[in-house]
Amino acid sequence: MNDSGLLIVVSGPSGAGKGTICSALREQFPNIQYSISMTTRKPRPGEVDGVNYYFADNARFEQLLAEDAFLEHAKVYDHYYGTPKKYVYQMLEEGKHVMLEIDIQGAMQVKKRYPQGVFIYIVPPSRDVLEKRLRGRQTDSDDVIAGRLAKARAELDWIDRYDYVIVNDELEKAVDEAASILKAEQCKVTRNAHRIAHTKELYK
Ligand code: ADP
Ligand code: 5GP
Repeated sequence: MNDSGLLIVVSGPSGAGKGTICSALREQFPNIQYSISMTTRKPRPGEVDGVNYYFADNARFEQLLAEDAFLEHAKVYDHYYGTPKKYVYQMLEEGKHVMLEIDIQGAMQVKKRYPQGVFIYIVPPSRDVLEKRLRGRQTDSDDVIAGRLAKARAELDWIDRYDYVIVNDELEKAVDEAASILKAEQCKVTRNAHRIAHTKELYK
């Protein structure tokens, strides 16, 4: 039997580098499954349904909400976002790690339901760098970028609810820090009860 996998929750302002860091981690940790969220926002150019998100309308989202199908959900920038619950629990039971890239409201809901999760907050090195990255990504209008910068400031007050903070200045260093966190978490005694029991058996 497996010990249950890690539930890794990554948050941070839009443009901080969550997606970039998570992609790099997935290459280093093939055991990580990436939860695909559902959202009511429209797909951006290049985004694919079932790959980047499950895209749904309000009625469908609210129906699933009524069925308690989400581990967490939130309204972000006027759209619903939610993590389908079934997949996450199934993967954890199979001993796989699951990564959620979600906003703070959602992360706090997960923390209540699953306090043994690993909560990581990614910050950009400065406001100016964040603005540059948001503009460089070329996915958002000036208004949207202004909204995201204001939200980034307001959200700094929540960092102390997370277990780890990573400043994403130099990408390689940030990915290294995230990888170290996951390696240490994988070795925690509390997460290895079955392996410890197995080792004890060998010495009987
Ligand atoms: P998020 O997922 O947090 O919204 P992204 O991963 O999309 O952020 O990153 C935002 C932009 O910044 C992307 O264009 C990405 O390539 C770039 N970026 C991410 N990390 C770094 C870094 N350490 N240095 C320079 N550019 C970065
Ligand atoms: P975007 O629209 O740029 O893809 O995402 C906007 C914000 O929604 C980001 O902060 C992202 O982390 C958050 N987000 C994406 N999926 C989910 C989810 O399933 N739940 C919650 N609570 N937030 C999400």
